[in-house]
Amino acid sequence: MDLDQFRLRDKKMAETLIDKIQEADVDLKIMHVCGTHQDTLVRFGLEDMLKESGIRIIQGPGCPVCVTTPREVQEIITLAENGITMTVFGDMIKVPGEKRSLMHAKEEGGDVRVVYGIDDAVEMAEDTDKPVVFMSIGFETTTPSTASVLARGAPDNFFVLCCNRVIPPALEAIINMGELDLHGLIEPGHVSTIIGTRPYEFISREHGIPQVIAGFEPLDVLMAVHMLVKQVKEGRAEVENEYDRVVKTEGNPEAQRLVEQVFRRVDTDWRGFPVIPDSGLELRDEYARHDARMEFSHLLEEVRTRAYRERDDCLCGEVLRGITEPRECLLFGKGCTPGDPVGPCMVSREGSCNIAFRYSGR
Ligand code: SF4
Repeated sequence: MDLDQFRLRDKKMAETLIDKIQEADVDLKIMHVCGTHQDTLVRFGLEDMLKESGIRIIQGPGCPVCVTTPREVQEIITLAENGITMTVFGDMIKVPGEKRSLMHAKEEGGDVRVVYGIDDAVEMAEDTDKPVVFMSIGFETTTPSTASVLARGAPDNFFVLCCNRVIPPALEAIINMGELDLHGLIEPGHVSTIIGTRPYEFISREHGIPQVIAGFEPLDVLMAVHMLVKQVKEGRAEVENEYDRVVKTEGNPEAQRLVEQVFRRVDTDWRGFPVIPDSGLELRDEYARHDARMEFSHLLEEVRTRAYRERDDCLCGEVLRGITEPRECLLFGKGCTPGDPVGPCMVSREGSCNIAFRYSGR
């Protein structure tokens, strides 16, 4: 633990903040969209402490693996079944598709490789003449690495299956769906490092919802809640930055420029959500020769046009929209565990169900 972490886990300071939150005597529902925030909330017992102080904090669609759709899962399985080398982040291999997961395709001889980053996938492409597809998932934090590789030039046999998404439109979709009466949002520190503070401003301006960008240590999260409580008490709705030791107002302009150069925004669906305008990304025409969906459109035609149903007994969609808690799912910890997951929220360490399971009883 470094000195900063030590300072940001100070128990006395945490108690002082909880006291202040309690003194405010408010009853608030706050959403965050980050698996690391959820981990901190549950691991350090803050979720329950805050609940006792009238603050309910809900995890929204902030886990990149969890929000991938059944169609995207089927795309990677189909490509692997057709002999294409698929490279994915570790969690994706276990996400159940309609009938099976990528793991099953691998067991049956599919060339599926787990990578730590896009550079590993590019290296594989450089070492072979066969096509190599990288499944690019993630939010604003990870998109720049894919953009950077394509902008500097990738091998001709390297393709990207783009499943990247953008956070602010999803936040607005949640608000517009009206299933939750939210009083505040805790914004993700990592995403904000890239996009800065401004892309959230319309939410406070148009929907009157206070927001605080927060770091990931316990005191970061408690301070963010305290700042939100203060905004509510004072009748303010604005974007404040608790994580200003890392997040700058303008974010990372170079990363933003790269993403803008390589990708364009498109409407896309998220697991559990209808199509959210402007919330997805696809490669611009200049980079389309690396687009796996174009290169293998003949293999993916049926996947693209067919309707998908999620399992009725898996409530991942409701969990991602923040209207159901993991333990309310009848399969939680019984038919569905990290070792034998039914939905992506139990697969990914950033998923609400996985986090609830890992820390249950502790
Ligand atoms: S516990 Fe399992 S089945 Fe239930 S919502 Fe979570 S991932 Fe889906």
